Amino acid sequence: MMEAEDQQQWKRTFYSELPKVELHAHLNGSISCNTMKKLIAKKPGLKIHDQMTMIDKGKKRTLEECFQMFQIIHQFTTGPEDILMVTKDVIKEFADDGVKYLELRSTPRRDNVTGMTEKTYVESVLEGIKQSKQENLDINVRYLISIDRRGGPLVAKETVKLAEEFLLSTEDTVLGLDLSGDPTAGQAKDFLEPLLEAKKAGLKLALHLSEIPSSKKETQVLLDLLPDRIGHGTFLNSSEGGSLDLVDFVKKHQIPLELCLTSNIKSRTVPSYDQHHFGFWYSIAHPSVICTDDKGVFATHLSQEYQLAAEIFNLTPFQERTGRSQKEKEAEQTASPGLNMY
Ligand SMILES: [Zn+2]
Repeated sequence: MMEAEDQQQWKRTFYSELPKVELHAHLNGSISCNTMKKLIAKKPGLKIHDQMTMIDKGKKRTLEECFQMFQIIHQFTTGPEDILMVTKDVIKEFADDGVKYLELRSTPRRDNVTGMTEKTYVESVLEGIKQSKQENLDINVRYLISIDRRGGPLVAKETVKLAEEFLLSTEDTVLGLDLSGDPTAGQAKDFLEPLLEAKKAGLKLALHLSEIPSSKKETQVLLDLLPDRIGHGTFLNSSEGGSLDLVDFVKKHQIPLELCLTSNIKSRTVPSYDQHHFGFWYSIAHPSVICTDDKGVFATHLSQEYQLAAEIFNLTPFQERTGRSQKEKEAEQTASPGLNMY
């Protein structure tokens, strides 16, 4: 018998070495404590202690407080060179955690002091991806340009235009768009026109939806766009804000879900790990992939999320070979390479 401590170590090594896919990672929310310290050293005038940018493991913050965290981080990432450094560090950290394919998402920002524009922001992320490749990191990286709901439909339209330009010029590094930001800001219908335009241009859509117990109507508006992936979908299968119709729709169209356990617990949209909707979607073998959302803000990493999911939902490293039906395996293989090992 392995000692408990050896067993823990074995598990950590197993999940870390397991080749993984990360499909839902916001660049600024993924900034580690180490990178934050480097950013703070570059801007001593801001006088913000690095601990303010981390959420202690045992401490829970509200969703609103999590959005405040992003504002603090944004004060430190105001120039193209900050974005380049942050992109390279985040990619390196995911690579060190055994991630082989990574899709980063981030909202282009402008800053009047540094002269950064939305375009140079995107270029800095792309430069970070390029330099990481030149350094032969064992990881393949793509970029989803984010539309922040708080910007409203006009900014969304501009973002779509920018994404279209980069889709054509980057040979698949810019893959598509993410819709994110405060889920209470604006209405889904405000973003329909730009998102439809994006779809027509060949951009993929990964949409945050049903993150809060909002109206079913709002969720259905976004689902009717037939997004390529759903971010969170926390309340799709719940009695508050969800319904059987919504679940059936997602199942019928086989829209994969990006599920972020710790993020949902820490931002209090899910009361406990064992009540996470991963359990529901996994039990019906729906294509789902475990992601981190914001590994820096929520103090986690992808291998830890895998280990948590395995322990809470009693998944073993060998379950793929012993416990799944052929139909379940086929369903997973369509869209969630990150789960195939179970
Ligand atoms: Zn997210």
